[in-house]
Amino acid sequence: MMAIDQGTTSTRAMVFDRSGTVISREQIEHRQIFPQAGRVEHDAAEIWRNARRVAAAALASADLKADHIVACGLTNQRETTLLWDRATGEPVHNAIVWQDTRTGALCERLAGDQGVDRYRDRTGLPLSTYFSGPKIAWLLEEHPELRARADAGELCFGTMDSWLAWNLTGGPDGGLHITDVTNASRTMLMDIHTLDWDRQICADMGIPLSLLPQIRSSSQVYGPMREKGPLPGVPFAGILGDQQAAMFGQACLSPGEAKNTYGTGNFLLMNTGTVPVFSQHGLLTTVCYQIGDDEARYALEGSIAVTGSLVQWLRDNLGLFPDAADVETLAATVNDNGGAYFVPAFSGLFAPRWRPDARGVIVGLTRFINKGHLARAALEASAFQTREVIEAMQADSGVPLSTLKVDGGMVVNNLLMQFQADILDVPVVRPVVNETTALGAAYAAGLAVGYWDSQDDIRANWAEGGRWEPDMPADRRAELYAGWNRAVEHSLNLA
Ligand code: ADP
Repeated sequence: MMAIDQGTTSTRAMVFDRSGTVISREQIEHRQIFPQAGRVEHDAAEIWRNARRVAAAALASADLKADHIVACGLTNQRETTLLWDRATGEPVHNAIVWQDTRTGALCERLAGDQGVDRYRDRTGLPLSTYFSGPKIAWLLEEHPELRARADAGELCFGTMDSWLAWNLTGGPDGGLHITDVTNASRTMLMDIHTLDWDRQICADMGIPLSLLPQIRSSSQVYGPMREKGPLPGVPFAGILGDQQAAMFGQACLSPGEAKNTYGTGNFLLMNTGTVPVFSQHGLLTTVCYQIGDDEARYALEGSIAVTGSLVQWLRDNLGLFPDAADVETLAATVNDNGGAYFVPAFSGLFAPRWRPDARGVIVGLTRFINKGHLARAALEASAFQTREVIEAMQADSGVPLSTLKVDGGMVVNNLLMQFQADILDVPVVRPVVNETTALGAAYAAGLAVGYWDSQDDIRANWAEGGRWEPDMPADRRAELYAGWNRAVEHSLNLA
């Protein structure tokens, strides 16, 4: 089974066997384009090139041919928004990445007197720069020529799943213009009850319906892959947004089960079954998955914009170390944060506060503080933000957390995982296969073609690969969390 995982920082292809074991893995990073403060873009043509390359390389490195692959699934960074020319297949601008905040004023205008929760009962989401709908609206407002071409039916909109699905199934030569329910639920344009585009919201944002892809389930055979690509004729059979794919990869398939993924940002999701639960505490309501014609399953989600990307920032913008992994060594040179706290509100604050006006701060500096303390404060920020989201999740669901299932690029960091267990006072566990996002996309595709018979096969494949037990006195935990909360107050007072 192959999965293509189009993430925020890189694109991967992985091959799995029936036990969920990784047979092969290839990855290429892509450029992060920062044209000005608050803007983050990707080159979609580069992303498609990388997807083709990693798929071919993942076959070659394991000495496999396309006809060894039973089916292929796709998972992707969500919300990142692209318009392309239907006839030529050329993107008409750089993709606007989910972290980009250029739509702040537009979102404020849309909120008007009705506030940011104007569309929450229909979409599960607050009006925020995070989601795709306002990004499309911004493109059409700023570029009249794009509006004219959109109205003439010449353009396609897609998040990265649609862009790659279209290209993988033929591009301008009959490619499928589709998305799955999980990705569609992040546009702010889909009614999460009917799972169809909401005409009124599209009209409010000035988005013609002809731009939008068809919404499909997360697990079904959509069609064969193009003959000229790396996987000719292989059934393309699963699409899930990255966080929803990680739910699958973590086997969080029953109501009440939850996982936290530590990547560019952090994303904590809890399965709420067939009922969309609406948050009173700043969480999102989102589609978790839909298998074929089954009823859709929903999730509550706490999204944190900046966690792993803060480590990148220390590496790239401050030059504190050459590799992301070095942050642990540097943080381990000191015993604690020395009283320093780092609130990485680079894109404002997402869940549970949703404050687009917040900005990053480092507080508690004295002559004593050195780069080790800064590295430690940066790692601790991921754990503090996670605690805030878990408190909101518990308040909404009434389900107390007994252990936290984790995955993603940062969970190799022992110092962070131990601190996470300490600051939550619950054990943290990770599975043997940490690549849960790619694995989840493989599961979605494999279920559609009968490679796995049922969700029980997926549950049976989950095995514990690491565990961190809490080991911090309660008063120290309370003192640290109070310090964090004071720091957040400072980040809110800058606007
Ligand atoms: P994504 O899927 O969002 O692209 P990944 O799950 O691949 O992200 O995680 C990559 C992130 O993890 C990067 O932001 C990087 O800075 C961070 N990271 C990688 N290794 C470490 C480490 N050892 N300690 C802390 N952070 C790390």
